[in-house]
Amino acid sequence: MTKNVTEIFSENVFNEKVMKSRLPKNVYKNFINTVTNGDTLDMTTADIVANTIKEWAIEKGATHYTHWFQPLTGSTAEKHDSFISPAPNGMAIMEFSGKALVKGEPDASSFPSGGLRQTSSARGYTAWDPTSYCFVKEGSLYIPTVFLSYTGETLDKKTPLLRSMDALSKTAVEFLKLFGNEKVTRVTSTVGAEQEYFLIDKEMYDKREDLILTGRTLFGAKPPKGQELDDQYFANLRPRIAAYMADLDEELWKLGIYSKTKHNEVAPAQHEMAPIFTTSNLGTDQNELAMEVMEKVALKHNLVCLLHEKPFEGVNGSGKHNNWSMATNDGQNLLDPGDTPMENLQFLTILCALIKGIDEYADLMRISAASAGNDHRLGADEAPPAIVSMFLGEELDAVLKAIEEDTVFKTETQTFEIGINALPSFPKDSTDRNRTSPFAFTGNRFEFRMVGSSDNIACPNALLNTIVSEELSQFTEMLSPFKGKENFESEVKKLLKSVLKEHRRIIFNGDGYSLEWVQEAKRRGLPNYPSTVDCMPHYTDEKNMYIFKKFGIYSESELNARTEVLLETYSKTIRIEARTMIEMARKQLIPATLEYVHRLSEAIAVKNQINISSCTEQKMAERLSDLADAFYDSTNNLEVQVNKACEVKNIPEQARFFHDKVLAEMERMRTTADTIERIMPSSHWPIPDYSQMIYNV
Ligand code: ADP
Ligand code: MG
Repeated sequence: MTKNVTEIFSENVFNEKVMKSRLPKNVYKNFINTVTNGDTLDMTTADIVANTIKEWAIEKGATHYTHWFQPLTGSTAEKHDSFISPAPNGMAIMEFSGKALVKGEPDASSFPSGGLRQTSSARGYTAWDPTSYCFVKEGSLYIPTVFLSYTGETLDKKTPLLRSMDALSKTAVEFLKLFGNEKVTRVTSTVGAEQEYFLIDKEMYDKREDLILTGRTLFGAKPPKGQELDDQYFANLRPRIAAYMADLDEELWKLGIYSKTKHNEVAPAQHEMAPIFTTSNLGTDQNELAMEVMEKVALKHNLVCLLHEKPFEGVNGSGKHNNWSMATNDGQNLLDPGDTPMENLQFLTILCALIKGIDEYADLMRISAASAGNDHRLGADEAPPAIVSMFLGEELDAVLKAIEEDTVFKTETQTFEIGINALPSFPKDSTDRNRTSPFAFTGNRFEFRMVGSSDNIACPNALLNTIVSEELSQFTEMLSPFKGKENFESEVKKLLKSVLKEHRRIIFNGDGYSLEWVQEAKRRGLPNYPSTVDCMPHYTDEKNMYIFKKFGIYSESELNARTEVLLETYSKTIRIEARTMIEMARKQLIPATLEYVHRLSEAIAVKNQINISSCTEQKMAERLSDLADAFYDSTNNLEVQVNKACEVKNIPEQARFFHDKVLAEMERMRTTADTIERIMPSSHWPIPDYSQMIYNV
C-alpha cells in the first residue's frame, strides 16, 4: 500500500491553503492581517472563521472541539465539548461560535500554578493562538491555545515563548537596520527538534511497574552487551521497527508535521525522528503532538514508546536536539554566513551576540533543560555535560581569532578581512562535528543538545530568544550612533573584538565528556550545575529577572511560581520513583529472593540426608541471604528518608532533601538489587531483564 504523500500531507490541518479556499476573500485577508500583526480578532470575523472551521472539521469526522493547551505539568491538556446545540422538536444542530473559538474557560484549578491562582478565588482561561494551526484528531477539532490566569499571568509553556518571539522580532528588526536591512519587518525564531525515543515490546512493559509508573527502569542489571560495539547507530531497521516508523510518518504527515529523517540511534532499542524546521511556536506544538502520536502508534504495533530521558541505566539516554535559528520575513536565515561583506559582518555580529549571551546566561540555558529525568543524562558521560559551552568549528573559530587578534584569516584560496571580503563558505554538517558540545554551530543554525527527550521545547526556545533579544538590543544601542557612517565597520570590529576578549571562555572545542573539561571549565569560571536542585535557584537571579522584566517575558511572581512548580515536580517525581521502588522490592523482588533461598535450603537439606556435597547451594544461599538482608534494610531506610522528605515544607529545601538523601538511598538500593539479579536464575526473577527488554523487538 503506497500512499500519495503529497495528498495525505496536512489533510487534517486547517492551514492557510484550506483557509484561503474556504473563507470569504475579505475575511481571509482580515484574518491573516490580524495574525501577522498580532492584533485581536474582531467578533464578526471570528464568527465566520469559527463557522468555517466547524464545517471543515465535521467533514473530517469531528463531533467535538477542544482548546488544546500546554500547562506547567509538562504534558498537553484538552477538554472536549461537542458542537451540538438543542433545536426544536427535540432535535440537535451543530454550532460553533467565534466566542467559543477564541476563548475557553476550563475548570483549571487542578493545574500547577505555583500559587499564582488560588483555587478558591480565580479561574484560568484559554485563548486561541491563531499563529498555530487547528487540526482534527480522533473526532475532535483541536484549537491551539495559551493558558492564563484571570489576572493575565501565564500558567502555561506557550505564552512565554510567544512573548519572547515578539521581543526577538522587535529587537532583531531594529538591529538589522544598522546593516542596511531596512525592509525587514518581522524576524521569527525557528526550530527543528530531533526527537529520540525507545521502543520496547508491550508485553515486557506491562510486567514492569517501574516503567508503567515512572517511565524508567528503577532496577535492572546491565546486560552482557550494551552499546559498546556501536553497531546500533544507523543500523538497518528491523521489520517491526520499520513498520512502526512507516505508520508514524503517515500519521505525522496527515497532521502537517514534516517528518523527514528516521534512524536507529546509539543505544539498543533507541531511535530518532527529525522533522523539517518551522517557526518556534508551530514547532513546539508539533513536537508535543509528535510525542503523543509516537506513543499512540506504538500501541498499535504492540510496542511501547518510551520518551523518558533515561529509561535504561548503562546505555545512552534520550535527548531532543533543539536546532535553532532566526528567519526574516524576506527569507534570510540570520545564521547563514552570507555572500557579501556586509552580510558577513552582520552574521559575525549576530554570532558574537550569541557568544556573549550564552556566556552571560549559561545558567538559564542549563535551567531550560532541568528536570529530574534529564539529570540522569546531562553530564553522565553520554549526552552533553551539565556545563554549558559553545562549539563553532575550526574555520569559524579561526575567523574569530583573527578578529580578536587583529590579524587576517587565511584559507588555502583566500585571505579574509572582515568587511572587505566575503567569508569563505564553511562546510555545513561536516562530519567532524563535535557531538559532545551542548551548543554547537552546525553551518546555518545552532544545535542545543541539552534538552531532554520528554521536555516541552517552549522553555529552551523562549529563554534563547530572550537572551538574544537582550544582546541584540545592547548591540543596537552601542552601534546606532555610527549607523551609515564611515567608521561603522571599524566600530563593529571594535565591539566584536572586545566581546570576544571577554567571552571567549564559553567557546570549547574539545571533548565535553572528559574530566579535564570539568577542571578547565572551573578554571574559566563557567558555572557547573550537575543537578536540577543546583541550577534552579538561579532562575530568579537579579540579572535574569532583569531581562525577563525588560522584555515582558515573566513578571517576578510568574518566575517565582515557575521555579516553585519545577522544584515541586522534581520532588514529586523522585517521591513516586522511591515509592515504586519500595513497592517493587517488598511485593516482588525481596519475596522472590527469599523464595529462592528457601529452595536452596531445601536442596541443601535433601543433599545432606543422602550425603552429597551442597557446597554451591550453601555459598549461594549465604550470599543471597546477606544481600536480601541489605536489600530489606535499604528498603526500610528509603521509606524513612521519603517520609522525612515529605515533612520538609520549604520547596527548595525539600527538593534538595530528595536529591541528597532520597536519590542517594535509591542508588544504594538499586546496586544491591542488581547484584541479586545477577545471581538469581531468570526463572525466579519476577520482572523482565534488560536483555529481554532492549534486544527482543
Ligand atoms: P543531525 O542529526 O545531523 O543533526 P538532522 O537532519 O537529524 O541532522 O536534524 C537537523 C535538524 O535541524 C532538522 O530538524 C532540520 O530541519 C533543522 N534545521 C535546519 N535548518 C534550520 C534552521 N535554519 N533553523 C532551525 N532548524 C533548522
Ligand atoms: Mg543533530
